[in-house]
Amino acid sequence: MNEPAQIVSIGLGDTSFTAVCEVCLGIDTAVGLSASTFAGRLDPDLEAGVFLCRRGHRVHVVRAAAEPPVAKTAAA
Ligand SMILES: [Zn+2]
Repeated sequence: MNEPAQIVSIGLGDTSFTAVCEVCLGIDTAVGLSASTFAGRLDPDLEAGVFLCRRGHRVHVVRAAAEPPVAKTAAA
């Protein structure tokens, strides 16, 4: 098995996420389902992790390195 790894980015402060497994998306679409999402949790002290979807496909989750373009205004 040599499938390409999927990479999902989450926000800097996010500890939980919902992602779509692209491999499952293809499988589900082929059989007429739409339940390709899976939920995971990445603790704040971790920058990245590898998760398995409900079918066991590997999905790399990485924390975004930079602030999003629309940053919250900080009152100084
Ligand atoms: Zn999958």
